[in-house]
Amino acid sequence: MTSTATRVLVLNSGSSSVKYQLLDMADGARLAAGLVERIGEDTSRLAHTPLATGGEKRERTGRIADHDAALKAVAEELAADGLGLDSPELAAIGHRVVHGGSKFTEPTLITDEVVAEIERLIPVAPLHNPANITGIRTARALRPELPQVAVFDTAFHTTMPESAARYAIDTETADAHMVRRYGFHGTSHAYVSRKTAELLGKAPEEVNVIVLHLGNGASASAVRGGRCVDTSMGLTPLEGLVMGTRSGDLDPAVIFHLARNAGMSVDEIDSLLNKKSGLIGLCGDNDMREIRRRVDEGDERARLAFDVYVHRLKKYIGAYYAVLGTVDAVAFTAGVGENAAPVREAAVAGLEALGLAVDADLNAVRSGDARLISPASARVAVAVVPTDEELEIATQTYALVSA
Ligand code: ADP
Repeated sequence: MTSTATRVLVLNSGSSSVKYQLLDMADGARLAAGLVERIGEDTSRLAHTPLATGGEKRERTGRIADHDAALKAVAEELAADGLGLDSPELAAIGHRVVHGGSKFTEPTLITDEVVAEIERLIPVAPLHNPANITGIRTARALRPELPQVAVFDTAFHTTMPESAARYAIDTETADAHMVRRYGFHGTSHAYVSRKTAELLGKAPEEVNVIVLHLGNGASASAVRGGRCVDTSMGLTPLEGLVMGTRSGDLDPAVIFHLARNAGMSVDEIDSLLNKKSGLIGLCGDNDMREIRRRVDEGDERARLAFDVYVHRLKKYIGAYYAVLGTVDAVAFTAGVGENAAPVREAAVAGLEALGLAVDADLNAVRSGDARLISPASARVAVAVVPTDEELEIATQTYALVSA
């Protein structure tokens, strides 16, 4: 690597999509960003935004057969901007990997052994890890000599104590099948908890933060002095908060009940709980904007969906307050957390005794910046802290390859 190599390409490979961003770590500038979707279909689409030149967004439509073709198309788009993957300025590729199990506690330089290890975790991440591996294989084939780094969604949560990570089931069965709580969205929880400390003018070691990552998927975490001590997602991203299409917490006996009494198969129940539950299950919409619009029109189902969502959120704030003992800040992030003032207001309402309150005027401000929304007199800061998972993946990748 030469000293001029400061660029990092961040790849987030899904089963039929690849999201990417090219960042320059010399100054954190975003040079390009884009998305390939519907890979393998006739209606594939690549949308590329050349941020470095400020040029127009470019689109390609028509069949992109597989991830290999997708990445080659991305490489061509980047090359057209003078940012090709063969540039000596490219320091590394950082891959988002969803499941790192208990093994991967840090960003990891990718080798054949690392790929094999990520493969061994497929039983606990059947939807995500195969797609992540495909992305890694494709990128390594394209640039075999370039350092590539895996950044795991689970890594930040590996500091959870056993008391938080263990399910109370038979230990041998649990261990034989990797059944424990891993947590996800770790890159976001790490970034946002650090940014929240910064907003308070403190070092991460000095503060306890409850992070509420509320996107289409949603999770909460309790972060003590920069280390995660509990998080709401578990073996898979299904546990915890009410999400766009996932149920979050429920009595596990619901599953046996549906199998025995509704004649549903395991796959049907899996699909019900992951894709047809949460907000969409409760009211038919998973977008908080649409739900708020319906609430404002007096729609009862939308109101109930909103209330169930907020009730669960409030329970987790209380639970993590108890886990941490003292709390310096509650930070809202991701699509809903950053934009939905009514969710923030309702989640914190009535928690004055815990030192938590939201200032209505500050909460109504729309901004892309990290900001406090609690009154100046509040004991606990309530903050909106936009997340940036791509920047965090690039930062961790660059730190590893430039060390
Ligand atoms: P993910 O990365 O999990 O797909 P995001 O963090 O982008 O999700 O969040 C997407 C969700 O954010 C949308 O489904 C929608 O519910 C919510 N959202 C986005 N913008 C707004 C807004 N202005 N007001 C309320 N909710 C919003």
